Amino acid sequence: MDLIEFFERKNINFLSKREEMIPYVKDASYFPGSLPRAVVLPKDENEISEVLSKCNEENVKVVTRGGGTSLTGSSASIQDSIVISTLRLNKILDFSGGDRYVHAQAGVRIDDLNGFLQSKGFVYPPDPASSLASTVGGTISTNAGGLRGTYYGSTKEWVLGLGVVLADGKIIKTGGKVLKRSIGYDLTSIFIGAEGTLGIIYDAYLKIVPKIERFQRLLAFFNKPEDLGKAVFQLKDRGLNPLGAEFADKISMNIISRISGISIPSGSEMLLILDIPIQEVNEYEKALSIIKEVNPIDVKILNQTESELVYKARKGLYSALLNEREREGEFIIIGDVVVPSSEVPESLKEIQELIKRFGLKTSLFGHIGDGNIHANIFTNLNSKEEMEKAEKFLEELGDVALAHHGSVSAEHGIGYEKKNLLMKEFMYKNSPTNLDLMKSIKRIFDPNNILNPGKVFDL
Ligand SMILES: Cc1cc2nc3c(=O)[nH]c(=O)nc-3n(C[C@H](O)[C@H](O)[C@H](O)COP(=O)(O)OP(=O)(O)OC[C@H]3O[C@@H](n4cnc5c(N)ncnc54)[C@H](O)[C@@H]3O)c2cc1C
Repeated sequence: MDLIEFFERKNINFLSKREEMIPYVKDASYFPGSLPRAVVLPKDENEISEVLSKCNEENVKVVTRGGGTSLTGSSASIQDSIVISTLRLNKILDFSGGDRYVHAQAGVRIDDLNGFLQSKGFVYPPDPASSLASTVGGTISTNAGGLRGTYYGSTKEWVLGLGVVLADGKIIKTGGKVLKRSIGYDLTSIFIGAEGTLGIIYDAYLKIVPKIERFQRLLAFFNKPEDLGKAVFQLKDRGLNPLGAEFADKISMNIISRISGISIPSGSEMLLILDIPIQEVNEYEKALSIIKEVNPIDVKILNQTESELVYKARKGLYSALLNEREREGEFIIIGDVVVPSSEVPESLKEIQELIKRFGLKTSLFGHIGDGNIHANIFTNLNSKEEMEKAEKFLEELGDVALAHHGSVSAEHGIGYEKKNLLMKEFMYKNSPTNLDLMKSIKRIFDPNNILNPGKVFDL
């Protein structure tokens, strides 16, 4: 029985016409993806299980897809594969403020989850800029970060338990409602950041916290990137804990200014958007005086309306930047490195020098509170020379991060794009065995290599 006949007989919802499947081919990266055999839209874990066990039997590749916002090609579909979309797994199943968890299906979008929680005074902290479209399953599978990472950490800090369908169709549950447990190997964490290569997550128990309602957003403008880096380090070193600390260079700052209507003082090269929780008034005053020590060009304290406009503009920054570049026939290849806060000033300086040496058109922005720097390279995808230059630049960007005790991938994962960088990081740590361990784990979970093959590493 062929696969299409199998889906029909089992009454499993699927798409197989070219025009219906097009939206499931590419993700948000520059990798084109290939047309799958079919896109399956399961309604629950039992249907996922039936599809996976059939695909495993017949050695058919499977790509799991949440919001399709991956920036590394990890959700781009593969020729002749079956794409499993979590679109219909969109229910919030259970919630308890007292127990501090929410139980949600994998296809629930992060903004929808937080819309639900907000009405109850709680928040699920991971806050990627893509939260309108990205999903519970996708963000777990990339260990997403975001605008609140400096305060709350990445997604891995917030996952209590998972429901997963394995490659052979077996359904397992890991962890659950409680905030702690000590029961040997942590099977929940193995799926975090696995990019759909070890199993398909169908639901998750997620940790929640009461929403911090009172904070002050301010903008600080700097002439030199090092000064911005120093300001953030000093804030943290002297005991403050920003709820958010985002930075943008001149190109990105201009976009934020255009969208939000906030003006930029002349001579500004770098913008810091800082959120200081107000538990005590003097925390915010302390933050102001620390920033003033590093000679900013100006500091603006935002009112409620300005504050909301700036947040929206920062969340929409990548899409606005991409729109601008697409009008020029370019795309954006996005570097995603992280360094410890103390190394940010020097790293930013070196990255700017690297950009100059490569003669690239770029814009820098990122979640600077946790040391995460995005180098957005404007590239003509049809130019072999530009693509090679971008690739070489990403490698050297990785070298900068590693030399400063950081990582080649902060929050976007590996996908197709950063496979060589993953190896670079392991080699840098003199631990090539890490890759062998990853491959051994993959072989245990997915002996026929049907789950998202060719992503993260090649077997
Ligand atoms: C405008 C924009 C802004 C962004 N901002 C941020 C940011 O601030 N921080 C950040 O970390 N990232 C950011 N990203 C990157 C992207 O949004 C994240 O990687 C996000 O976690 C992907 O979620 P998704 O639901 O779209 O997953 P997808 O792109 O659909 O999938 C991502 C990976 O997860 C796998 N996967 C998806 N669902 C499941 C599942 N249920 N079970 C197993 N595997 C699964 C896929 O196979 C794939 O390997 C941004 C992207 C865009 C386009």
